[in-house]
This record gives sequence, structure tokens and C-alpha cells, in this order.
Amino acid sequence: MRTHWTSKKQKLLVSERREHLDLFFNFANADLTVAKSSLLKSQMYGFLESMMAERPAIYSSALTAEKSELIQDLQKHLRARLKKIIHNVQLLWEMPLWKISGTLEFTVDAKTKRFHERFRFRKIKAGNELKALKRMADLALIEITRDLDFKPNRFRQCPKCGNFFYQPTEKKKIYCSIRCGNAVRLRSFRRERRKKDQSRC
Ligand SMILES: [Zn+2]
Repeated sequence: MRTHWTSKKQKLLVSERREHLDLFFNFANADLTVAKSSLLKSQMYGFLESMMAERPAIYSSALTAEKSELIQDLQKHLRARLKKIIHNVQLLWEMPLWKISGTLEFTVDAKTKRFHERFRFRKIKAGNELKALKRMADLALIEITRDLDFKPNRFRQCPKCGNFFYQPTEKKKIYCSIRCGNAVRLRSFRRERRKKDQSRC
């Protein structure tokens, strides 16, 4: 007897989450001080705004506050979260990563004839916009890793440039890109050659 199946909704969800993941990594890796990053910033805001739209009346003031400082702090927070995952990859026991307080609501919607699951954040005081943004980013990270069935030990940070990335296959990937890998190889090749040259004279 078949008791489950892959629904269209699931497939759609996975591709959506992949987009969110790309956005999160791009955002975490970007230099937000350069003009080039403005598109990325507005994409991130768009994403957080859409998260708020699903959760009315709680965070409406969050994004109207002074944006540039908020977004830098949000980036710092996201980087710290990714680092926390990476530093816990030894998987010795169950490691707590982070918690979000609130209520999980489970409902049936007569209009769409579907189940609905919605997380309601605990209310925060006005003036605490950054906290609100951080919580939303935390929740989004949970949703992404859950829905894409990620493995914690595949989260990585490139030792050459510091960029965060997710290793897509079992094959160990140390550097974020061919460019970073080549740069490191070239440097060690030159170092070796210099050593040889020195030992010759
Ligand atoms: Zn790199």
C-alpha cells in the first residue's frame, strides 16, 4: 500500500528553498559596503518582507527603521549562525544550535482544502527591529535546512576567501570555487619551487 507520494507542492517548495539558500549564502558572503551590493540587499529585504507578510501585524515596523545599519548587523548574525553550524560538525552528541520562542499553529483551511502550518513568533517590543529580523532569518535557515534535507557536515567556509558554501555531494570540497583552489595550489607550487631554487645555490 502506498501511503505517501511526492506532491507538486513539495517539488515547488524545494526549488523555492534553493533560491532562499542561494540568497542567504550570497548575502552572508557579500561586501555590503560596496555599491554593487545594493541589489542583494533589496533582495534580502524583499525576502524578509515576504516572510512578514505571512505573519501580519507583528513586525511591520522592522523594515522601516534605519536600514543600512540593520542589514550589516543582520549579516553578522547570519555569518555567526553559519559558523556555529560549521564548528559543530564533529557531531559527538546532539548540539543545540538556536531556539526561537513562539507558537506553532496547525490548521485546516477550508478555502484551499489544505493543512497549514504557521509559526507565530513571540511578540517583541517596538524598537527591537534587529531582533525581529534575526529571528526571521533564524526561522528561514531552519526551514531551508529542513526542507532541503541538508547534512550539517557539508556546510563549509572557504579557507582562502572566507566565503560560506554548501558542499553539494559526498566529495569533499575545501575551497568555495575553482578560482580559490587554483590560487592556493599556485601559491604552494611557487613556494616549493622557491625552496628548490634556494637549495640549489
Ligand atoms: Zn573561496
